[in-house]
Amino acid sequence: MNYPKKISFFEVGPRDGLQNEPVFIPTDKKVELIKMLTQAGCERIEVTSFVHPKWVPQMKDAKEVFDRIGQKEGVTYSALIPNLKGLERALDIGVKEVVTIMSSSESHNQKNVNRTIKESLREIEEINKIAATHGVKVRSYIATAFGCPMEGDIPVEKVAEIAMALEESGSYEVSLGDTTGMADPIKAYNIPKYILAKVKKASVAVHYHRCRGIELANNLASLQAGITVFDGAAGGLGGCPYAPGATGNTATEVLVEMFARMGIETGIDLAAIRKCGEYAKTLSTLSCET
Ligand code: MG
Repeated sequence: MNYPKKISFFEVGPRDGLQNEPVFIPTDKKVELIKMLTQAGCERIEVTSFVHPKWVPQMKDAKEVFDRIGQKEGVTYSALIPNLKGLERALDIGVKEVVTIMSSSESHNQKNVNRTIKESLREIEEINKIAATHGVKVRSYIATAFGCPMEGDIPVEKVAEIAMALEESGSYEVSLGDTTGMADPIKAYNIPKYILAKVKKASVAVHYHRCRGIELANNLASLQAGITVFDGAAGGLGGCPYAPGATGNTATEVLVEMFARMGIETGIDLAAIRKCGEYAKTLSTLSCET
C-alpha cells in the first residue's frame, strides 16, 4: 500500500468540540486553547461559529474570540457560518475562511438547518459568490455522509452529487461528516473513494466521530482510499445537538500519533498536541467516554 508522505489536519476543537458545552466557557479559555493549537503546529483551525446565540449560546463570543487570538501568519482561522447572515458577521470582522454545513439526508438537513437540500445548495452558492468578491475561502461540510439516524444509509451517488454541486459553486474543500458515528471501515474506504473520483477541483476531507475506537479504523481506511485531509478535535470533544447518540470528534492527538508512527508527516508536534487535548478536556463538562 502506498501511503502519502504528508497529510493535512483541520482542527475543529474550539468550535465543533466546544459548541455543545452547556456551561459557558470563558472567552479567555477558548483563546488559550486556540493559541496552544497554533503553537502545536495546527495550520487550520475552526475557531468559532457565527450562529445566532439563541441556537448556540456557547459561541456568542465569536467576535471577541477572533479579536483576541492574535492570528499567526500562515495559519488559517476559520468560522462556521450557518447562513448568509453568518457570512455577513464573519465578513464584518475580516474572517478569511468560512465553513458551511448541510446534510446529505433531507430529514437531517431539515432538522439541523431548517432547509431542504436544494435550498441549502442555493444558499451556499450565494455564500460562495459573496465570499469570492471578498477573497474569502469557503469550506463545506456534508453531514450524515456515512449514514443518517433517521434515513439510514444515504446513497453514495447522492452524497457525490452534493459534493459536486458544492465544488461547482466554489467551495475549495468538502468534508464528509460521519455525524453520528455510523461509519465502518468498509464505508470509510468506499464512500471517500467514490467521491474522490467525482470531485476534481475541490479537495475532500473526512470528519469522523468517536465510536469506541472504530473512528481510528475509519480514518485509516479513508487514508487508504486516498484521503489526505482529516478533521479532528483536540481531546476528542464534541458531538451534534440534533443527532441523538452523537459523541465526540476523532481526537486529533491520537490521529497525529497514529500518523507519526506510520512515518506520515502532519506538521503537528505530538507532545504539544497531547497537552492541547488535556487542556481541552478540562474545559468540557460533557463525558468524553465513547
Ligand atoms: Mg464533528
